[in-house]
Amino acid sequence: MKQRLEKLQTWMRENEIEVSFLTSSENVFYLTGYYTDPHERLLALAVFQEAEPFLVCPAMEVHDAKRSGWEYEIIGYSDIDHPWEMINHAISGRTQSVAKVAIEKEHMNVERYEQLQQLFTKAMFVSAEEKLRRLRMIKDAKELKILEEACALADYAVEFGASEIKEGKTELDVLNALEYALKQKGVTEMSFATMVLTGANAASPHGTPGNTKIQKGDLVLFDLGVIIDRYCSDITRTVAYGEINDKQKEIYDTVLKAQLAAIEASKPGVTAASVDLAARKIIADAGYGEYFPHRLGHGLGISVHEYPSMTETNGLIIEEGMVYTIEPGIYVPEVAGVRIEDDVYITADGAKILTKFPKELQILK
Ligand code: MN
Ligand code: MN
Repeated sequence: MKQRLEKLQTWMRENEIEVSFLTSSENVFYLTGYYTDPHERLLALAVFQEAEPFLVCPAMEVHDAKRSGWEYEIIGYSDIDHPWEMINHAISGRTQSVAKVAIEKEHMNVERYEQLQQLFTKAMFVSAEEKLRRLRMIKDAKELKILEEACALADYAVEFGASEIKEGKTELDVLNALEYALKQKGVTEMSFATMVLTGANAASPHGTPGNTKIQKGDLVLFDLGVIIDRYCSDITRTVAYGEINDKQKEIYDTVLKAQLAAIEASKPGVTAASVDLAARKIIADAGYGEYFPHRLGHGLGISVHEYPSMTETNGLIIEEGMVYTIEPGIYVPEVAGVRIEDDVYITADGAKILTKFPKELQILK
């Protein structure tokens, strides 16, 4: 955490930013080691070029924040306190004239922004988000280890879910069974609402599971992830229930070929765009270009969607230590949807695949 704070402070000095006032749970966690969802209450981390940082959180959480290892000041406010007065006091003890303040512009709400404007009447407000996204984009060994654990549990969930597919079961039956199995393994939170989609339902990339019964001859798509120690995994597998037709097979094979090509293309020094295009070209050449309507993938870590964004126009250079998803899909409305998604970690030699459930088409009896 100290090194992360120092990197932010270096950036602040380079850009003449006297105060960073960060408010998202994810960035506060990244810099302090303390995670909380404060709901509507204020959570904030104030960082200065030289003076010690301080954390602001609801009073009832001060003990947890201390236990997380945060060693600097914590301002705990009760529901009847005025946290902005306490913040004003803490800031004026650390720095006098403030010309530039970095905030999370995409996260901060107007009410809090107005409070800050009253504290820093002459300051200009700049965004800290781009800097924090870039810091979070490169994972260290500890983060990788947690992500590997989260990916192993996602593998387990797909395996368990696939084993639950039986005559008469619905999407929700299978979903509930796999999430229950995860809970028994100590998983308390999913990265996002789990998807189990069958047949034509899977033709929507962001479909909602329901009471549709899984039928022989259907493709069944699982998209899920678990949160372990605040880090998210994200896997998609599409399996066949009974024999599927040639069209479904062709779609599956095309997606798999595209997915493997993007893994192969993933290595330090290339652009994110070239990785996306490695997959997109295969899908387009097979005649399904218009049925692949989303980017190849996204970075993941504390957030399930973070940098890098794997789009066909992103010139960002892939670096060692990045973790991102590779998830091409083909969605033919009313016919079928197939997506195959892995999480990969970039090493000097290329992509190390963190999600390991098999990708050869699984035909369940
Ligand atoms: Mn996914
Ligand atoms: Mn994803």
